[in-house]
Amino acid sequence: MTTLLRPAPLVAPRVSGDLPGPRSAALLARQERWESSARTYPRHLPIALAEGSGSFVRDVDGNVFIDFLAGAGVLSLGHNHPELVRAVRRQLGSLTHGLDFPTPVKDDFTQAQLSMLAPGLRRRTRLHFCGPTGANAVEAAIKLCKIATGRGDIISFQGGFHGSTHAAMALSGLVSQKAPIRDGMPGVHFFPYSAGGPDADDRSPDGADYLEQALRDSNGGIPLPAAVIMEMVQGEGGNLVARTSFVRRVREVTRSLGIPLIVDEVQTGCGRTGTWFAYQQYGIEPDVIVASKALSGIGLPVAVILYDAALDTWAPGAHIGTFRGNQLAFAAGVETVRIVRRDNVLGNVRRQGARIADRLAGLTRHPWVREVRGRGLMWGIELVDPRDGRPATEVAAAVQHHALRHGLIVERGGRGDAVVRLLPPLNVTAEVVETACSILVEAVSARANRSSVPRE
Ligand code: PMP
Repeated sequence: MTTLLRPAPLVAPRVSGDLPGPRSAALLARQERWESSARTYPRHLPIALAEGSGSFVRDVDGNVFIDFLAGAGVLSLGHNHPELVRAVRRQLGSLTHGLDFPTPVKDDFTQAQLSMLAPGLRRRTRLHFCGPTGANAVEAAIKLCKIATGRGDIISFQGGFHGSTHAAMALSGLVSQKAPIRDGMPGVHFFPYSAGGPDADDRSPDGADYLEQALRDSNGGIPLPAAVIMEMVQGEGGNLVARTSFVRRVREVTRSLGIPLIVDEVQTGCGRTGTWFAYQQYGIEPDVIVASKALSGIGLPVAVILYDAALDTWAPGAHIGTFRGNQLAFAAGVETVRIVRRDNVLGNVRRQGARIADRLAGLTRHPWVREVRGRGLMWGIELVDPRDGRPATEVAAAVQHHALRHGLIVERGGRGDAVVRLLPPLNVTAEVVETACSILVEAVSARANRSSVPRE
């Protein structure tokens, strides 16, 4: 008779031996043999995943990690939240795919999303269900604005990231991704992004001043655009938190010139920064909100744009797609909103965010750490070479690997991939945050110290 060994519950990180372990190494080798060279995450995080629970994942070799990547910010209530699993299971037996037909669960999802907006905005908001990715919803947003305004140009910000489809990539800052693609979407203009956070009160000229100057100048070179698109926190751009005065001025300028303002909340949305949407901390109201990643809370794909009814001039079929009716994602999304309210998850985001700020503050004394910055549960540690101020890509990679070896999964982003990024589940506990921060502080100290030998 075979004895079935139940794996230990996922409650603490535990890594034994080298990474990747033998089973992971075998799967990584098969992946390398059969999958595309454009694959990304396992290049920096060489493990093969077996299962997840809450803030933890186990690899196929039995190593357990704290998962502060959380599906790139998708798993807002962690892996396999039992109530979400139940909601999805319930839905699974009745209807899974519904194109864009109305269904009771879709209606519940729509109302749940609208309920997170301020009443005035809610009343004038329309929803469009897009193809299930952030990039697809960005495409929808710019098409909506182009159709409604009859204009063609779009303004975006340096460091921004809006997705990897042809047009979303054209709106993104990442030059290395765009450079090999000839003839990207024309008419995109980039302005400087002004970081510093909601609390920063810097009155020096910023990206909004340049924007206004260019748009009001009859010789400014840019026709009145169809839209301005921006993130409140540039996630992939290195966790740069927009300065309040900058965001407000962008809103004033766009409003006074009749330009729709699109806020891309794909990463910042659904509670990530401590409010349901990040723009809510800036005292502005956008014309279009793009949301996707964490809408279902459990990683089932869904994407929407929420926009001012005045823009609703597009024709039936203007933005279609087969996968716009994922009933499982809707069921989980309704439950996610309910749990976020019931468990005061946004309060937890703010509390644990403050804990991270506190625990990581000391890192800035380190010569290789330029800044520790974040909002809610979206944090970044920027590593630069103290000798020339350049992104310390290799040190950041070493920190990421050191953390993995000690049981913590973190991602990197920003210029030169030199910002170590944390995107924990929003219901992460204080205990897990403490453990993760200890691993991270140790990783930065160990790896950056090793790099502090002066260069010849
Ligand atoms: N916008 C932002 C702000 C993002 O962070 C991302 C993904 N990281 C996207 C758009 C694209 O989303 P997706 O990968 O689902 O297409």
